[in-house]
Amino acid sequence: GVLPPFANQPPVDFSRAENRDRMRAALEEVRSRLGREYPLLIGPDEVRTGDSLVSESPSDASLIVGRSAKATRDHADRALSGAEAAYPSWSGRPDRERADVLLKAAAIMRARLFELAAWEVFECAKPWQEATADVDEAIDFCEFYARRMIDLADPRRRDVAGETNRLSYFGRGPAVVIPPWNFPLAIPCGMTAAALVAGCPVVLKPAEQSPVMAWHLVSILREAGAPPEVVQYLPGVGEEVGAALVEDPRAAVVAFTGSRAVGLSINRSAAETRPGQRHVKRVIAEMGGKNAIIVDDDADLDEAVVGVLASALGYAGQKCSACSRAIVLDGVYDAFVSRLAEAVPSWTVGPADDPDSAVPPVIDAEARDRIERAKADARSEGRVVADVDVDPLRDRGHYVGPLIVADVDPKARVAREEIFGPVLAVIRANDLDDALRIANGVEYALTGGLYSRSPAHIERVRGSFLVGNLYINRPCTGALVDRQPFGGFRMSGIGTKAGGPDYLLEFLLARCVTENT
Ligand code: GLU
Repeated sequence: GVLPPFANQPPVDFSRAENRDRMRAALEEVRSRLGREYPLLIGPDEVRTGDSLVSESPSDASLIVGRSAKATRDHADRALSGAEAAYPSWSGRPDRERADVLLKAAAIMRARLFELAAWEVFECAKPWQEATADVDEAIDFCEFYARRMIDLADPRRRDVAGETNRLSYFGRGPAVVIPPWNFPLAIPCGMTAAALVAGCPVVLKPAEQSPVMAWHLVSILREAGAPPEVVQYLPGVGEEVGAALVEDPRAAVVAFTGSRAVGLSINRSAAETRPGQRHVKRVIAEMGGKNAIIVDDDADLDEAVVGVLASALGYAGQKCSACSRAIVLDGVYDAFVSRLAEAVPSWTVGPADDPDSAVPPVIDAEARDRIERAKADARSEGRVVADVDVDPLRDRGHYVGPLIVADVDPKARVAREEIFGPVLAVIRANDLDDALRIANGVEYALTGGLYSRSPAHIERVRGSFLVGNLYINRPCTGALVDRQPFGGFRMSGIGTKAGGPDYLLEFLLARCVTENT
């Protein structure tokens, strides 16, 4: 039948006691299931390996969330053989059948919303609201791409007297999906669902830090009707199994979201043609950001302070959309900086399962050490206006206190390099032109923001702040499927828009058939 129009999944309202109770119950239930083992899923086989990846909770290093098997190059080879064998029948199925798998998966995730969110709280230290929002976004991707594929399935007709022309699409071939851990259900689900519905069998290599969430995703897609060879689960070390999958001549698409360094190395490796390869690989790479919010001299400072901090400190700054630069016009600079500093203490650092925590711990010890080193450098590149001490929490997990430095030179490292932590550089601009020049002066172009009350300034920034997602008078994170197709350009990515109308085309090839009648 005809589907109702797409609508975003509404956010969970945690001001209602019943939702808080459901979340607490889900956390208790999931807590009793921590520490299990997760095999590789290669075709119909559950494969256990000698070695395992241990997934620890960032909030409490003593909690082991799960242990996943660790795939090798041989497993990558087996998985791609299965994917290649399954490709003709999967891509040949009626588009509606593939779309129905996504719709069924969305229904399963909706029924398990609190439970899946609870797993994220443990595995990735996502705070309650953001954990449920991540599950919502995964549901949205399934609902949206299912509809989009149904639209694309109808061939485009251009008939003239004596001639019919039909343009139609089909899946490119096996897809390798390499997601990050920071949106541990939504991003793997978005890339996987798009590939599947387009007709591309998927081999999913989850992030090393969130294999349990990815296992849930693969199980849900299989339960929803995806054949085992069409969605396979291959956790392992990126440099080994990820590299093997990308290099394999049978991989037709590589969909990656993560760091710039890895994205560029995938792009390079995928560009090489290897023996037996009969196609040019398509790479989708969503990479980092050094996102700025411009604060105009007539901005509502209450709103700007809240919006900048939410964008900079939400999920401890571990979003590629996060704000890491506030570019503030001279006229409000001093007032903005002092109000920003005053507001920082209301952002409580604490464990993700505690609903009163606003800044959760970062993903692992390596991230904590890297961010602490960047903070040490940043302190010498500006005037420290907020520097939160988390010593009492240090033994429990990977906590990092927020740092804000003002009077930063746009050429300083803290103003140019992505840190992926709760660190914000504040930069003074003489006027709007200066602000735009600074904002556009980095190698990334993902998100950006503006707080202003001047229609003329809003118009200028709308036209000249060159980023993939620009937000005016609101935070610069939290893109919604369909409403804000997400993705950037320059070193932020190849320019694809997740959750947008063109995304599926990345996974598709087109044929035009002309008949002389
Ligand atoms: N889509 C997310 C947002 O708009 C960011 C995704 C990412 O960090 O990769 O905040």
